Amino acid sequence: MLTAFGPDAMPLLAGLIGLMIGSFLNVVIHRLPMMMEQQWAKECAEFSGQVADRAAQPNDVANAASEFAPVISLSLPRSRCPHCGHPIAWHENIPVVSYLFLRGRCSTCGVGISLRYPLVELVTAALFYFCVARWGASFTALIWCGFSATVVTLAMIDWDTTLLPDDITLPLVWSGLIAAALHWNTGISLSDALWGAVGGYLSLWVVYWGFKLVTGKEGMGYGDFKLFAALGAWFGWTALVPIILMASVLGALVGVVLKWLSKLHDGGYLPFGPFLAIAGLTALFFGPQSILRWVGLSL
Ligand SMILES: [Zn+2]
Repeated sequence: MLTAFGPDAMPLLAGLIGLMIGSFLNVVIHRLPMMMEQQWAKECAEFSGQVADRAAQPNDVANAASEFAPVISLSLPRSRCPHCGHPIAWHENIPVVSYLFLRGRCSTCGVGISLRYPLVELVTAALFYFCVARWGASFTALIWCGFSATVVTLAMIDWDTTLLPDDITLPLVWSGLIAAALHWNTGISLSDALWGAVGGYLSLWVVYWGFKLVTGKEGMGYGDFKLFAALGAWFGWTALVPIILMASVLGALVGVVLKWLSKLHDGGYLPFGPFLAIAGLTALFFGPQSILRWVGLSL
């Protein structure tokens, strides 16, 4: 069909690329926390190694362990079935298709593969599709695809580990400010983006300390401030209230449901990042002011 090569095909092509990027995001979501943990362990071992050297104790156990532990990176070691260790062949690693073909089971041991892998791929594909459907094959679409992929990664890492790595949140803040300064992000001035970042960080910082002073507990982490600052940088300060409103309502609803199902993390902690991420993506596709309209707060 000729139309398959016309402009209408661009969102579909973006969706296909999104599937592949989603497959890569699965690797990042799985491995980045392990890489961070390995880095911390190495730093701790180096530190304790130095202490041990000073105490004249060679062959420090922790130091030796860190030297011989296989280094985890985004490309190494090869992906394996976490249950039986079967190395995953290229044809078992095709986004969504392989999952369907394998009927969601490892080809060797038959243990189920989590549905979240194809889901992350499909969500990324849908986000890329909508970005290109909305902004065409443009630079604006490209930067919003990058934004969407980053936010999906942060949401999933936070859900798994209750961590929002600085390695991802801080570049997201900077890139939002740069996008506004260079007018890549139409409609957001540099001043809107700057005050969005400042307001996003400070507002949650104030809530955090208020909550801590009153209850003695930590209601959220510093990563949440940085993610909210990033959303402020990308959407401008006027989007902060709608985004925090939606994230809080969603978080409360999901929290109640998970508590009812007894599926909360240890200590009853529910990461806030995934809800900020969903609110941010909603702001991207529907506009921040739509969120206010939905709850009847529209001006
Ligand atoms: Zn297996």
